[in-house]
Amino acid sequence: MAENVTNWAGNITYAAQPHRPRTVDALRALVAASPRVRALGSGHSFNEIAEAGAGGVLLSLDALPARIDVDTAARTVRVGGGVRYAELAREVHRQGLALANMASLPHISVAGSVATGTHGSGVGNGPLASSVRAVELVTADGSVVTVARGDERFGGAVTSLGALGVVIALTLDLEPSFEVEQHVFTELPLDGLDDATFETVMSAAYSVSLFTDWRAPGFRQVWVKRRTDRPMADFPWAPAATEKMHPVPGMPAVNCTEQFGVPGPWHERLPHFRAEFTPSSGAELQSEYLMPRGSAVGMLRALDGIRETVAPVLQTCEVRTVAADGQWLSPAYGRDTVAAHFTWTEDTRTVLPVVTRVEEALAAFGARPHWGKVFTTPAAQLHAGYPRLHDFRALVRELDPRGKFTNAFVREVLGD
Ligand SMILES: Cc1cc2nc3c(=O)[nH]c(=O)nc-3n(C[C@H](O)[C@H](O)[C@H](O)COP(=O)(O)OP(=O)(O)OC[C@H]3O[C@@H](n4cnc5c(N)ncnc54)[C@H](O)[C@@H]3O)c2cc1C
Repeated sequence: MAENVTNWAGNITYAAQPHRPRTVDALRALVAASPRVRALGSGHSFNEIAEAGAGGVLLSLDALPARIDVDTAARTVRVGGGVRYAELAREVHRQGLALANMASLPHISVAGSVATGTHGSGVGNGPLASSVRAVELVTADGSVVTVARGDERFGGAVTSLGALGVVIALTLDLEPSFEVEQHVFTELPLDGLDDATFETVMSAAYSVSLFTDWRAPGFRQVWVKRRTDRPMADFPWAPAATEKMHPVPGMPAVNCTEQFGVPGPWHERLPHFRAEFTPSSGAELQSEYLMPRGSAVGMLRALDGIRETVAPVLQTCEVRTVAADGQWLSPAYGRDTVAAHFTWTEDTRTVLPVVTRVEEALAAFGARPHWGKVFTTPAAQLHAGYPRLHDFRALVRELDPRGKFTNAFVREVLGD
């Protein structure tokens, strides 16, 4: 008997085994012949976003040839729909080029990441979808549609929750390769942190993350990733770490990327976790909320106000910044953003009420949940957070009039 297929965290069991076509033509034929289809990336989302449902076809692209075609003159790469960031980054680096940013781990697929608005940190760095120049989609009748920057549909085409079709390739912007050094600091107090200081701390380098377990009002760790071709401001707010750190207290730091300011290639420093290690056993759930950056300190004080509720089910909380982007369904759409991420313990039953409590505390800040993580935000609140939602609905109707790529999650989000 076939084994159940779950997401990475194991909290979602998909209704069916994924189909794994070996060629794009086989994929197109399968899509054309199936009444309902959902693409599955690397399965790192924590909710039912990828679920095809009973009778639907769950479609994995991991048996397709892993195309990574770098154009060094144009500084672009065309990457297949099943490729993960780790493979992509190695090849791009080998050719002397770089991606602008990466998420905390490189094991996630490119297509799945940009579909959910996945991001790293950095006041000047948009979500990973901001690098995308063009998307190639297999649509409901099996035909291939390319939507490129400049097309009026482009704002809906990248962060699309898998609702427009199956992405078989993406073309991404690249830049010349760069090196990064990672410095970790400890014990940054929340007391006395004002808006101007928050902004200065988060702007101290190319990518900055704050970590807390909310057992005390302040941050246990500050991860500062400096491009060696750019200056780093002094960091007088917290002392430097004296040992290598993991963002989750007590976890072995061996899985983490190099620290102590040792310079290295961008793809070995921008993620927190090393490509050659599984970052953890998957014994966790995650939630994340994106809010206007100007509200950061008020938002942190609101979380501090409920830290006795949050801390018992929390492994770590990471605060990042994301530059505004123009994808209609991006949680960073139209506003420079502060993101509060929560790595919870793995017990859904005890975590969910705390997730709701966090959402109540953050509602006043216009929090938009990360599409790939656990949330309980009411549909009406989701809809109110996205001024271009009606344009996205129209795009779904245009490209997928019969809703072949829509599942229960997408129906709730689109609300029509
Ligand atoms: C340990 C861990 C660390 C993480 N760190 C970060 C982080 O630093 N920053 C952050 O923002 N998020 C982070 N995430 C969340 C993660 O980036 C998102 O859940 C992302 O969507 C995962 O990509 P995936 O390929 O696993 O997508 P899946 O979970 O497989 O799918 C997500 C969505 O993408 C769609 N999709 C996937 N492939 C295709 C395709 N080829 N065509 C059309 N649609 C497709 C699916 O249908 C689904 O709607 C993390 C998750 C984990 C488990």
